[in-house]
Amino acid sequence: MVKYMKFSIKFKSTIFIALLLLFTVVLLNFMVLNGLEKYQQRQYENYLNNTAKNANLFIQQEIGSNNVVNSKSYLSKNGQEFVMRLNTMTGLNMIMYDFKGKQIGSSFVLRNRPDLEKIVEHSLDGKRAYQIIGEVIYYSSPIRVADEQIGILEINYSIKEFIDFYNAIKKLFINVGVIVFTISFIGGLLYFRSFSKDILSLKGTVQKIKEGKYNDVSIIKRKDEIGELSEGIYFMNGKIKNQMIDMEIEHEKLKFAIKKLKEMKDQQKQFIGNITHEFKTPLTAIKAYVDLLEMYSDDPNLIEEARMNIGKESKRLFEMVKKILKLSSMEKYDFELRAEWIQVGEILEDVCKRLKGKAKIYGIKIYTDLQNIMVYVDKKNFIQIFMNLIDNAIKYTDADGQIHVKAYKHEDKVIIDVEDTGIGIPEDLRDKVFEPFFTVNDDRSRKISGTGLGLTLVKEFVEKQNGKIYLLETSNKGSIFRVELPVEK
Ligand code: ADP
Repeated sequence: MVKYMKFSIKFKSTIFIALLLLFTVVLLNFMVLNGLEKYQQRQYENYLNNTAKNANLFIQQEIGSNNVVNSKSYLSKNGQEFVMRLNTMTGLNMIMYDFKGKQIGSSFVLRNRPDLEKIVEHSLDGKRAYQIIGEVIYYSSPIRVADEQIGILEINYSIKEFIDFYNAIKKLFINVGVIVFTISFIGGLLYFRSFSKDILSLKGTVQKIKEGKYNDVSIIKRKDEIGELSEGIYFMNGKIKNQMIDMEIEHEKLKFAIKKLKEMKDQQKQFIGNITHEFKTPLTAIKAYVDLLEMYSDDPNLIEEARMNIGKESKRLFEMVKKILKLSSMEKYDFELRAEWIQVGEILEDVCKRLKGKAKIYGIKIYTDLQNIMVYVDKKNFIQIFMNLIDNAIKYTDADGQIHVKAYKHEDKVIIDVEDTGIGIPEDLRDKVFEPFFTVNDDRSRKISGTGLGLTLVKEFVEKQNGKIYLLETSNKGSIFRVELPVEK
């Protein structure tokens, strides 16, 4: 994998600004120095042209005032003198050549100057030419008298001052460049530090979202694009957070639904198994009597016994079928529940009244302590729940026993306790009693127990009303079944 060196935005921006300024300085330097050079060139070209013109004029005057017939040989003879005079007049060193290029005069004390044949050659052709070597300009120009070239004058001109000035300006620019770069680099670093601080903070925010820490995300308060970006990220974070929560809830629901489905499937299997088993017992008994009757059809005692037992078993079967139908219809026809506001105390009083007759037969007394609380439930279901619970309490309580039915409000719930002084339920079967077809398998219970569907039905009813039912207490001195229903709609 190729790994790139990573530079921060702060560093990159600073370098960019510093280089931009440096480039400006370099460009300015180039333009100014170029202009300066051209200006200097024009200056010394003009100066040298004028000097050469004046020197030519001086020679013309000399020739004119002396009535010279042959200017060329006159110049050759007086070349050295002319050069010396011109040197005195201008302060410049000069060399004079005749029309063939032979030196005829020089103001130089020492003869150590570069070879300048080329420019001399140029001037032999009647042109002006110059060459810069080191700090000196070697300028040569033809000497003319009445349109005839009679020689060449070479002027040596020092441009040290120009070069010094030029170099001083160049140095100034280099210094300015270094100062500008340093200042802009430091200034840039300081300026971009605050800027990049917020960008780093945004980067941190994005990292937090990546890690799912949605609650740690905050907004950077700035009135520019970074501020807007931060607001956008904050808004997005909110959306992602909500979606994640929704997804989690959906996920939980799905998990719960799958669990429920599995449970239901198991329950259904168990239920069918139980039905088959429970149906078998009375059916076996009925079949046995039918077989016996076939064999001893004229035994009046058997007929009487068979009639009684077949009647009892078929009643048991009928009861079972009734309850099974009720259970299955509850699962299928949810919408048939019709909730309404009812007075808990009033209805329970009524239920107890209806069961007092049965209780009296068994020598049991029912006491009530009921507050009048309004709940929003299906009235029929509510009656069914307590009919079953109080009926069980009567069934599993010995003579002279007592049943207490209490109703009161606690927080946002109504609590209804059905308490008896009956035989109780073994501790380890406390939850099992709500399972379909479950009956406690001891002598006393077996004598009275019915189909084992009553509490299953009760639990189903209570849960349909968003309530809870549980066995609060149980011992050989009695049991308390508690129902909790929500008071709010
Ligand atoms: P059943 O028709 O057998 O009464 P239930 O579902 O109503 O069926 O009750 C299941 C079993 O729980 C009963 O067979 C009985 O053994 C036990 N039971 C229910 N209520 C009481 C109670 N109040 N006291 C003691 N045992 C009880």
